[in-house]
Amino acid sequence: MELYKLTAHELQQKLQTKEVTAVEVAEAVYNRIDAVENKVQAFISLTKDRALEQARRVDEKIKTNTALSPLAGIPGALKDNICVQGTKTTCASQILENFVPPYDATVTEKLVDADTVVVGKANMDEFAMGSSTENSAFKVSRNPWDTDTVPGGSSGGSAAAVASGEAIWALGSDTGGSIRLPAAYCGVVGLKPTYGRVSRYGLVAYASSLDQIGPITRDVTDCALVMNAIAGYDHRDSTSINTPVPDYTKSLVKDIGGLKIGLPKEYFVAGMDPEVEKAVYAAIEQLKALGADYKEVSMPHTEYALATYYMVATAEASSNLSRYVGVGFGHRGQGDDLISMATKTRTEGFGDEVRRRIMLGNYALSSGYYDAYYLKALKVRTLIKRDFDKAFEDVDVLVAPIAPTTAFKIGEKVNDPLAMYLQDVCTVPVNLAGVPAISLPCGFKGHLPIGLQIIGKPLGETTVLQAAYAFEQSNDYHKRLAPLGGE
Ligand code: GLN
Repeated sequence: MELYKLTAHELQQKLQTKEVTAVEVAEAVYNRIDAVENKVQAFISLTKDRALEQARRVDEKIKTNTALSPLAGIPGALKDNICVQGTKTTCASQILENFVPPYDATVTEKLVDADTVVVGKANMDEFAMGSSTENSAFKVSRNPWDTDTVPGGSSGGSAAAVASGEAIWALGSDTGGSIRLPAAYCGVVGLKPTYGRVSRYGLVAYASSLDQIGPITRDVTDCALVMNAIAGYDHRDSTSINTPVPDYTKSLVKDIGGLKIGLPKEYFVAGMDPEVEKAVYAAIEQLKALGADYKEVSMPHTEYALATYYMVATAEASSNLSRYVGVGFGHRGQGDDLISMATKTRTEGFGDEVRRRIMLGNYALSSGYYDAYYLKALKVRTLIKRDFDKAFEDVDVLVAPIAPTTAFKIGEKVNDPLAMYLQDVCTVPVNLAGVPAISLPCGFKGHLPIGLQIIGKPLGETTVLQAAYAFEQSNDYHKRLAPLGGE
């Protein structure tokens, strides 16, 4: 068995029993990258020297029997909007093409403390705006299950890397589905934690009231391990939640007898692929067979979630991105005065989608339109949040699709922003409400994976992981590897 095919928990055992060294594991992953990266295009940059150095340190610790974290020596990728001191962090944008952060994100610090090995920075949609990774200024990532299709976005590089064996785990960020959608399209596991559970310090901001960092992994056990490493209070993030972090691996039990699951019927939108719908219903049958109690619930404001999200997210983005004017960060355009310099910087530096969002957001926030658009969106956001509160009075978790379809062809939607935004219809309500949700494979349409979404109460990651684990252990979808050739 090739080492790159193993999960983090399988590799951890091999490292502990000294069957393999961390350097061997890192080299196996880099060999895999050499073999398939030209097809997958998952990375913006690779950090091989630093990674091998980290691996050597782990091997030293193993030799001297130093106690190690479960992720020590396990190679992973970071989405390129997560700061790593001394390593380029581009956000897949020309405007940050040469930005080298002088500090680590909190999650980076935590993963370094856990002795993980960071193999590189993963491709993404520019500033995390998109659902296909086609908005990257540098390259289009490919879905390892079919390289003519998109891996999903915006954390498409992270998900493609994990699905192709170019990384054992990865971090993504999820503002409106950007961890869960690519996880679903690439047949891997992705968790968006409760808003505030994982520090956003050092994550390049897109829409600050929605952004959240989370794991993308091969299975639910690895997801729990990465959560253990990255979750927790951080005084440098004012929205961080100051409550103790449970040991998420304790949730990995197969017994879900009596767990109450609900299906929000409004998530089956017009245009939903019947095979996706069938797979989600089959997953519900499976959860029932495992002992869960099922009922249908109603979340009447779901139909407004997409419009609300695209108001709130673009408004916040227009404000967050106003810092890129050629002073302090990244690219600077040449101009005779401050205004022309800033204008040049922004027109040269931002891609079409980012500019579209900045214009939309500025419009929604401008005087005269603020009340009609932004303020209205905030009010509807509260109603959407209340739908969740109400549903969770009756059920422990909600089960839903991740997206209306499986992965689509590269180029299919890139010139139709509204069709692209529609892919987010099942994921954005979760961000607006701030609750946690996981995506895990629940079947295939032809050769393309289908994702199941399990949504939890605020700080209900433990229950979400438990339901996901029980479901995962009852099938073998997570054991299938993307057929990239050369295996
Ligand atoms: N596709 C959504 C958007 O473009 C979500 C992106 C994300 O979660 N970062 O805004």
